[in-house]
Formats: sequence, structure tokens, C-alpha cells
Amino acid sequence: MKIIIMGPQGCGKSTQAEKISEKLNIPHISTGDIFRKLEKSKSPLGIRVFKEMLSGKLVSDDDTMLVIKRELSQQKYKNGFIIDGFPRNVYQAKHSPFKPDIILYLKVSKEVSFARLIERKREDDTPKVIKTRLSEYYKNTTPVLDYYEKTGVLRTFNGEQEIEGLYRELIKELAR
Ligand code: AMP
Repeated sequence: MKIIIMGPQGCGKSTQAEKISEKLNIPHISTGDIFRKLEKSKSPLGIRVFKEMLSGKLVSDDDTMLVIKRELSQQKYKNGFIIDGFPRNVYQAKHSPFKPDIILYLKVSKEVSFARLIERKREDDTPKVIKTRLSEYYKNTTPVLDYYEKTGVLRTFNGEQEIEGLYRELIKELAR
């Protein structure tokens, strides 16, 4: 099963993706984590990604598609996966190297998302970067939801509830 988990930063998607990955025994892919690792390699691609990520802006579509295709070509993803962080815009959705079976959308208000991000204290989480990242999300990623809505694979969940309750709802939907 190829699952995409989406929602604004701070909606809890990586926590839920980890739990689902364990439960269904499929790998969890996070494009943010892949980029953060790449950033540490001093390759030209790594240096470019570093600059883009630091600003809170999206990494270019060319670099993103290259990285995602390279990642997904690995044997371990053959039987399915759960991915968070991709696609981030309609271009990426249209050019995705895989067709998702289901999209789990965790809906969270701007206020809750911002407050959770301020609390989490990741290296690239300063208030300024958080604001840029959230506005990038609303500008670029919200249209992806409309795109998938039309294909009939989008499922929406309340991402403001507690972790276990949301997890149960997600697992129930995936078992249908
Ligand atoms: P995340 O860990 O998902 O919040 O991603 C952290 C940063 O990685 C984002 O702010 C972007 O700069 C970059 N990033 C992650 N996924 C993508 C993607 N699919 N397209 C472009 N940039 C991305």
C-alpha cells in the first residue's frame, strides 16, 4: 500500500507515520529527513538543499524529484510505504513517480500548527522560518489537496485530537 500523509507542519504527521509504519510493517519516508541528511553531505546538491531549507522555502522541484526518484528506486519500497513531506505542490503531485492508494490528511488550524512548532525546537525551527514554512504550505500545498480530492483518494481527519485517538481513526480507515 502506498500511503501519503499530509497536513501543515506540526499536525503530527511524522509521529503518526512512524506508528503506521510499524503497525503495517512498511517503511516510513520523510522528505524533510532525507534533505536534512543530504545537507550534511558536502555535495553540490547537499549545499543547494541546505540553502533552500535554511530559509524555510521549498527545495526546488528539480532537486526534489531527483531525490525522491532515487530514494523510491530502492527494493525496500517495493511492497509499499508511508511518505510524509511529499508532494508539496501540484507540480510534484502531477509528476510523482508513484500513484498513492490513499491520502491521509491531518487537518489542523494555523494557530495550533504554529504553537506546536514553536514548542518542538528543531534546528531549522526559528519563529521566522516557521512562519515562512507555514505560508509556503498554505500557498503551495493546499492546492495539492484539491488535486487529490478529485481523484477520490483523499481522507480528512481532525489533527487537533490526541495522538492515540487519531491513530485509531487512521488505522481503522486503512483497514477498510
Ligand atoms: P519538513 O521536515 O517536512 O518540515 O521539511 C523541512 C524542509 O525540507 C522544508 O521546509 C523544505 O525546505 C524541504 N522539503 C521537504 N519536503 C519537500 C518537498 N517535497 N519539496 C520541496 N521541499 C521539501
